[in-house]
Amino acid sequence: MAYAFPIWEIPTVPVHGQNQRFPVRHIYCVGRNYAEHALEMGGNPDKEPPFFFTKPADAVVPVIPPAVGDVRYPQGTKDYQYEIELVVAIGTIGVKVAPQNALALVYGYAVGLDMTRRDLQGQAKKSGRPWDYGKSFAQSAPISTIHRAADIGHPDKGAIWLEVNGARKQTGDLAGMVWDVPHTLSFLSQYYDLLPGDLIFTGTPAGVGPVVAGDRLHGHVDGLSDLRIAISPAA
Ligand code: MN
Repeated sequence: MAYAFPIWEIPTVPVHGQNQRFPVRHIYCVGRNYAEHALEMGGNPDKEPPFFFTKPADAVVPVIPPAVGDVRYPQGTKDYQYEIELVVAIGTIGVKVAPQNALALVYGYAVGLDMTRRDLQGQAKKSGRPWDYGKSFAQSAPISTIHRAADIGHPDKGAIWLEVNGARKQTGDLAGMVWDVPHTLSFLSQYYDLLPGDLIFTGTPAGVGPVVAGDRLHGHVDGLSDLRIAISPAA
């Protein structure tokens, strides 16, 4: 049976040191997973169960270092913001997984940006509506190359930071996550079958803020490939 129109290319992310690409299926994102960021968002620093939102697979903008990815300023917003995050790439199916078994699902890790239309997210929060306009749109998930867990293990501490035009804007440590990777995956797997190709953005440290066209962003997590993007003018 033929397709009604030509099938599009599956979104992929390059794998560090391998002549392979990671095909992207779902993108899950954890909200407020560093205490100080929860506070700056008006939330509660106390430990609450994690919550999640999603982005479409084709939100990824794969960037192979040392290239600088091009990300267009999106339509519909006047407050486009960065959130630097550790990204977990799933390689093995997992359903209702216990925390002590969750790392076995992990294929690898990458540096990602959860780009956000903050004004639209804020309106949605106020009116009790879904976050999709704020979080789920084209090019909202730039990501650097994936490093395989087989090569680097499972990072649970180390610096995570973001610079905009050379100025440090966000600084944190992976050890500062409210819910660590095993518990995040375990929790998510109670509600969704985690599948090979899934990406999980694990939340951002404090210091989020806006960008404008022409800005250059440089994100880092210890042990992974840095992520660099430049914001191009709105269409
Ligand atoms: Mn985020």
